[in-house]
Formats: sequence, C-alpha cells, structure tokens
Amino acid sequence: MKKETLCVQSGYQSRNGEPRVLPIYQSTTYSYDSSEELAKLFDLSKDGHMYSRISNPTSECVEKKVSALEGGVGAMMTSSGQAASLISILNITNSGDNFLCFSNLYGGTTNLFAVTLKKMGIEARFIDYAMSDEEIESLIDEKTTLLFGETISNPSLEVLDIERYASLAHRNGIPLIVDNTFATPILCRPFEFGADIVVHSTSKYMDGHAEVVGGMIVDSGNFDWTDYPSLTEPDESYHGVIYTKQFGKAAYITKARTQLMRDLGSTPSPFSAFLLNNGLETLHLRMERHSENALAVAKHLKSHSKVAWVSYPGLESDKYHSLAEKYLEKGMASGVVSFGTINGKKGATAFMDSLKLAKICVHVADLRTCVLHPASTTHRQLTDEQLESAGIKPEFIRFSTGIENIEDIIADIDQALENV
Ligand SMILES: *Cc1c(COP(=O)(O)O)cnc(C)c1O
Repeated sequence: MKKETLCVQSGYQSRNGEPRVLPIYQSTTYSYDSSEELAKLFDLSKDGHMYSRISNPTSECVEKKVSALEGGVGAMMTSSGQAASLISILNITNSGDNFLCFSNLYGGTTNLFAVTLKKMGIEARFIDYAMSDEEIESLIDEKTTLLFGETISNPSLEVLDIERYASLAHRNGIPLIVDNTFATPILCRPFEFGADIVVHSTSKYMDGHAEVVGGMIVDSGNFDWTDYPSLTEPDESYHGVIYTKQFGKAAYITKARTQLMRDLGSTPSPFSAFLLNNGLETLHLRMERHSENALAVAKHLKSHSKVAWVSYPGLESDKYHSLAEKYLEKGMASGVVSFGTINGKKGATAFMDSLKLAKICVHVADLRTCVLHPASTTHRQLTDEQLESAGIKPEFIRFSTGIENIEDIIADIDQALENV
C-alpha cells in the first residue's frame, strides 16, 4: 500500500463484528488461563501483552502503522520524543562509550546528549556538515557506538545528507540514527537512503493537533549487530536470551522494549496512542498543506524589506535546496520556516509581539500557525558558541506555518512586520 493508504488503513484491522475504529484498551494488565502461559511471555518465547508498561494493544496498532510508514521491521512508542532519543542511544551504548552527533540537533536533544548522558558516563562527540569524512572519522574509535542526525534540523532547517553519513557510519561499523520528526515519513523515509534506526517526536506533525507528547523508535532491521555484545550476548535479566539469535532482524527494537522500556518505564498511555492514531490518519494531507503554505510564506518573507534573511529548504535559493530535492518528497519541505527580521533581537521581538493569528508557543509543527524566538526560549540554556553552531542568531525566528488559509497567514505576517 502507498503512504496515504497506510496513514488511513494500517495498524488496526477490524474483524467480523468488531469496532471499525481503533479501540482504547485502557488496561494495565492482561489475564491468562494458566501460569504456564504467562511464564512463556516472561521467557520471551511467546508473543503477547503482559503489562502495559511494556506493551499495550492500542499502542501496538499505532506502532505498526508508523513502522509500516517508515518501512521498518518494528517500532516502539515512548512517552515523549526525548525518551525515544534516550532509549535509541542507551540500547547500544554503555557507560564508557561515546557516539557522534551533529551540533544542529534540537536544543532538548543537545542538552540530553551533552549534559545528562555525560553524567551517565557517555560522551557525545559533536560534528557538523562542514567537516570532511576524514575529520569525522578521526573522532571514531572502538568505543564509538553510533551516529545521530536530524533529517531537517530543528530549527536551523539544514537537510541531512543521509546517504553520505549512512555510508560513513557503515564503513566504520556503526549505525546511523535519524530523527525524522520534521520530515515525517510522508516527506522522507530515511531507511531508503541507508539509515538504520529512525526516532520521532510524535508530539509534532504526527499528532499534528498539539494534543499529546509522544515519541517513537523504528528499526529498519538492516544493521548487522555482530559487534554489539549487548545484542549478541546473553541478557541475564531475561534468562540469558540472545536478542540477535531469538529475534533476528528485530533484535534492536525487541531489546529496546523488553529490557529498556521494562526498566525505564517511559510508556505512553493507551489514550495518547489513540490520539496519535487520529493524527496519523490525516498526516499525508496535512504535510502537503503545511509544505504548500510554508513555501508561500518563505517566498513572501524573502521579498519583504523588513526581513534580513530567510531559510527554507523549499526555496530554490536555499543552501539545502539540492539536498531537499534529493531526500524530500517532490515540492514538499515541511511547514517550518526560519528567518531573521532587520534590527536584530529588537526587530524579532517587535514582530513576535505584533502577531495576532500566529501565537507565541514553545511548540512547533502543528496545525495552528505559531512562532518562537529560540535564542530566548528553547535554546536559552545553550552557550553563545553552542547557539552559533546550532545555527541560531539573535534575530532568529522559527515560524511554524499552520494549515489555515494562506492569505490570512500572510496578512498577519505583513501587519506584524510593519512594527519592526
Ligand atoms: C520536539 C523535538 C524532540 C523532543 O520531543 P518531545 O516529544 O518534545 O520530547 C526531539 N527532536 C526534535 C527534532 C523535536 O522537534
């Protein structure tokens, strides 16, 4: 089935006389006819739900839908995008190990990697798009476990050259993990270009209505984990199960659930999964409209005298346009436009405070147009150098274009720019 059909139809399948719409299984527990039956689940020798911290039938349907959309072998929903990123790393990285990541990552991810993982004895080594392969490879050693990047970076909107970094990673025996939040599988399926694991903050376009915080990890099933002892050696916390042996291509995602979700418990509620599924059912339509509106906004801003610069990979003049053409669905570059007003931070603040339709929100990527000034909010904790390497200037505005009528959005922008 094509992506549009998967959005609507995949995941939950109703059988004779059953509800047509995904039911909410609001239950922590599952009952069994014998202790023998339940024991098989604890041995991982049989599939099934035992406790909703680990899995739940409503969440499972949504996991299947996202896995189908990305073209993976399995997915796991988490209670937030942050939890998805954390688990994607911890699943193959231990204290004393290090990993590579790009410096343009979402500010929350940068904090997690540079501050919290550091306290856990895991070192994030930051790299950028300007570095040569040799420079990057000089940072890889036998303790390096993975490479992490964002398809379209939040908020600098730089497009990741997935094929280049996938082959660099594979040459060095490590997987490429891609945060596909801004693109969604409607615009890009990173596995088709060699990425091994995809993570999402489903709080953004996937939910789309700004109702539920959530995350997802998807496994391509393609990476060879031979050199990762945590997947190839017996897990004593599961009666010595060897993930690669018992679960083959789904080793990574199975371990993420049965070991890390069991232990960390960053589980979404079944109701959150239900709401996410509602969002996913219209994702394909919304991504088209977001992209169409954002391109119109970007073109309009570019020709405006109160605007210093515009960054949007959908613009032909954009530095990342050719990568967008290669990796993103034709003519669609998602809904976020970054730009700077004239008059620096003062200009940016005057613009933001004058908006009427667009609201100032921390959130991004939902159906209502909203704006944010990253330097004074989401990226406030970063040092000036980190801000610069994350591509954030003082006048930087992140404009998240909604799916309202484009003329109304542009009218709001124009009246606000008059005050800059
Ligand atoms: C928001 C976001 C996250 C974090 O997700 P939460 O759901 O807020 O925890 C991670 N990556 C990207 C690209 C994001 O935009």
